[in-house]
Amino acid sequence: MIKQKIVLRFPPHVVEQPTIYHLIKDYDLMVNILRADINPRKEGRLMMELSGSESNYQRALEWMKEQGLKIISLEQQIIWQQDRCTHCGACTVICPTGALCFTRPEMTVRFAEEKCVVCELCLRACPARAMETLVDSENSL
Ligand code: SF4
Ligand code: SF4
Repeated sequence: MIKQKIVLRFPPHVVEQPTIYHLIKDYDLMVNILRADINPRKEGRLMMELSGSESNYQRALEWMKEQGLKIISLEQQIIWQQDRCTHCGACTVICPTGALCFTRPEMTVRFAEEKCVVCELCLRACPARAMETLVDSENSL
């Protein structure tokens, strides 16, 4: 059994294809969509958690690559540049999952990557630019 968060980037010619349907029906995967940004005739982005057997997951990855989808590991997307963090707490107010939170009694901010759903709200909220995204870098699976 595997549970993996990924980002799919859809080129325009793939956006309208029933990718999720195939993941469920052909590869017996459970699909939990975390965020979607898909417009017809434009490149789309879909963040989701896939769970199922390891072999089906790997087969599904291969199939998606053959369809022209770019697949990015979600865990690698949000980076906390700890040395830039001033522990102001602005991100802890806005983070919807508690991935960024204060530790007590020190009252310093910590980043729990496993809770992050890559909503990117902290990127805009952080005055020190301590939160970064690697969505466009070299983390393709
Ligand atoms: S991307 Fe969203 S969920 Fe992840 S740490 Fe930032 S605010 Fe929290
Ligand atoms: S908003 Fe930025 S500087 Fe402030 S605690 Fe969060 S990561 Fe650190």
